[in-house]
Amino acid sequence: MDAAKLSLYPFLTQAAEHVAHMDLSIDDIITSKALVGGLPRSRASSRVIQSILGAIEKDDTKPDIAELLSYPIARILVSCLDDAFLIRRYALAEAKFANTRMQKEDDYETLLEIGRDFNINASITDKGFQIHFTDYIRGAAGMRALNWKLVNRRLTSGFVNITKEEYARLLQEGIRVRIFNSLPLDVPEPFCIALQEYLEEIKTCLEHSKKELGEEGFGEMEPGSFPPCIKHLLSSAQGGVNLAHSARFALTSFLLNIELSVDQIIQLFNVSPDFNEEMTRYQVEHIAGGTGTTYKPPACNTMITYGNCLGKDELCRTIGHPLEYYRKKKKVTSSEPGPGTGEPPSSTQEQT
Ligand code: SF4
Repeated sequence: MDAAKLSLYPFLTQAAEHVAHMDLSIDDIITSKALVGGLPRSRASSRVIQSILGAIEKDDTKPDIAELLSYPIARILVSCLDDAFLIRRYALAEAKFANTRMQKEDDYETLLEIGRDFNINASITDKGFQIHFTDYIRGAAGMRALNWKLVNRRLTSGFVNITKEEYARLLQEGIRVRIFNSLPLDVPEPFCIALQEYLEEIKTCLEHSKKELGEEGFGEMEPGSFPPCIKHLLSSAQGGVNLAHSARFALTSFLLNIELSVDQIIQLFNVSPDFNEEMTRYQVEHIAGGTGTTYKPPACNTMITYGNCLGKDELCRTIGHPLEYYRKKKKVTSSEPGPGTGEPPSSTQEQT
């Protein structure tokens, strides 16, 4: 691939080799203002900020070389902050960004080449691609939609036929895992100091976004009183982890029962790799009673059966239902002395 194409797929081994052959030191890339006028740094920063906000947008205003170099700098920026939430969001956003480019790719040979970089050996067919079922299973393992199940696919001599869109979606998952597993990099402190100006901006955006998805998104709710299982499922969903159906149901029904709105819950799931607003809205509204049946969240025994009881603590020993945990913990928290006063809450506080 040439430099222009590699700038579209900067996570490829070939892209890293191309940058290595440019004879630039990391210092040049990070600090030199002469290097494409410093554009790789500003584009790197916008890559990271946009990933926090939800999606990386294409930027055709910069030369290909700036786009290509912005990727390793973005990885350095993410590594300097070393935040698990940011790493998950960034990996997912880069993978989705790559997917949008692959969907528009007319050259199927390029898609095969990308696949080979992820050890996927595919061939081109009339209707798309054909890949070995072991590669298919590896790529589709994280997909929850029924049409990804191997039993719903036709196998021909061990090979599965898939469309170009599906092939790109499988690659998206491989890209996400590659980026996620490779971060954080071990970045020497002077490089982080040199990028401080960008890091401050990213940190502010990150804190704001965490607040919106966390405490502030719950209105009157008390996330600090959530049982460990729900805290775990919630942070997984917010970090872009694809939850199993039983986990998604447990989390959604719990949040609905403590009166989070359908829209607030949809917003929470909006970072999942498989996010589909229409389908998510249908599922959440269904659990919310859109069909006349309101579902209660599963009791602890059911949570244990499905492997969703995670992080059990002392209070868990005294309850049998996650909602019971929440009510008990909330009661204890609201009757605790106010911070730093050592006094019980005033009657006004109790009424509010
Ligand atoms: S015991 Fe119940 S409330 Fe506690 S973590 Fe397990 S499922 Fe959640």
